[in-house]
This record gives sequence, structure tokens and C-alpha cells, in this order.
Amino acid sequence: MSEMIREDGRKYNELRPIKIEAGVLERADGSAYLEVGGNKILVAVYGPRESYIRRLLEPNTGVIRCRYNMAPFSVDDRKRPGPDRRSSEISKITADALRPALMLENYPRSMVDIYIEVIEAEGGTRCAGITAASVALVDAGIPMKDIVVGCAAGKVNDEVVLDLSEVEDKEGQADVPIAIMPRTGEITLLQSDGDLTEEEFQKAIDLAMEGCMKVSELQKEALMKKYSTE
Ligand code: UDP
Repeated sequence: MSEMIREDGRKYNELRPIKIEAGVLERADGSAYLEVGGNKILVAVYGPRESYIRRLLEPNTGVIRCRYNMAPFSVDDRKRPGPDRRSSEISKITADALRPALMLENYPRSMVDIYIEVIEAEGGTRCAGITAASVALVDAGIPMKDIVVGCAAGKVNDEVVLDLSEVEDKEGQADVPIAIMPRTGEITLLQSDGDLTEEEFQKAIDLAMEGCMKVSELQKEALMKKYSTE
């Protein structure tokens, strides 16, 4: 791999600075705040609880619902408030990425609600949202098999690099966001946008996996910090 330095001074395998805090909201059952580069993301989790939306409930298992939302002031051009195609897609893939870690069969006829609020966006918000949501789920005390973590790799200037910034995402050739369960390495999200050779695609997945393992440590540290001082 080359020694190319990226526009923000990072090496090809370097993450942006990350800060994670667990349990930041009084009223939610679980919550988390995460910053990665210029992203600022707040997550609130409620449940498992009964839901008034009876048609969504399942007799033999709990269900999760996720809402990913960008604040109007989170991006350079004002984001029109309310759901759109992109936020509906991210809400769905986030719920799909987290579901395998949750032991929802223990909670029939109940619902877990996850609200992801992007306060500022700077590329990679879907992975950051998944990472923060997982910490908030643990904070809510919901039994889980693993703490899901997300991270992306991509291709910029013909190089496979880790954790694309917004500029790299817009000017780059490809973006491969993934989420994994770090204990087993099981992939729970895999998307690919852009052009990659088979070899580059494999490299991107390997690099994103490495990134996930590093972020996973920070998730655990955030939870330890919250629960070892109480
Ligand atoms: N973005 C934006 N306006 C929008 C949606 C996205 O400026 O309406 C920016 C934002 O910084 C986001 C980035 O474009 O993080 C990349 O968006 P993408 O759809 O690839 O999702 P993400 O990388 O955030 O998961």
C-alpha cells in the first residue's frame, strides 16, 4: 500500500478522531453521543416496550424500528426536514444491521425504538449511526449477543482508504460501508457504491473490518466509563 497522504493528512488506514459517550439523555431508556471527524450524532433508544401500533407487533418475537434523521442544519445546504428516500433507506439498513445482535425472541409482542439524529454530517453517517445506536442499546440494558460496529472504506485517487470524509466521499470513486459483530466477524451490513475491481473490493472489506475492530474498542471504553463510575 502506498504512503499517500490524504487531503486531511491521514494515512490510508487511519480513522478520523472519534469520541463516544454512553448514557447522555435523561428521558431515554438508553442513549449515546458520537463524534467522528465532523459528524455529530445523538441516539435515543426506548424499549423493549408495548406499542400502540398493534399491527407491527409479532406474537413470538420483539421487533425493532429505527428512524435515521438529519437535522436541517446538519449539512452545508439546508436539509429539507422530514423523511426522504435516503433517510428511509438508512433507517432500514440500520435496523437490519442491528437486529442480528438483539435477542428479541425474549420479548414477544414488544418493540424497541431507535432514534438516530444527525446533528452535523461530514461523510459516513450511516456507519456512525449504527456504532452509536449499538452503544445506546447496551445502555438501555437490552440483552445482546454482540455490540455491532460500523465503518467504511472506499477508493479515492485510485487508492483503497479507510473511513471516507465527506470530500473523499463526493470526489472519490467508491464507498463500501460495512457493519460487523466483532466477536464473530459476522457481517450485518455490506453496501457498495461506485467502481471497484474484485481485488479492491476485497481490500476495502479487509480495511473496513480493521476499522470496525478499532472502533469496537472505543465503544467498549465508552460503556466501561459510564458503568464503572456509577
Ligand atoms: N450529505 C449532504 N446532504 C444530504 C445528504 C448527505 O450534504 O442531504 C452529505 C453528508 O455529509 C453525508 C455525506 O453527504 O455524510 C455522504 O452521504 P451518503 O449518502 O454517502 O451517506 P453516509 O456516508 O453519510 O452514510
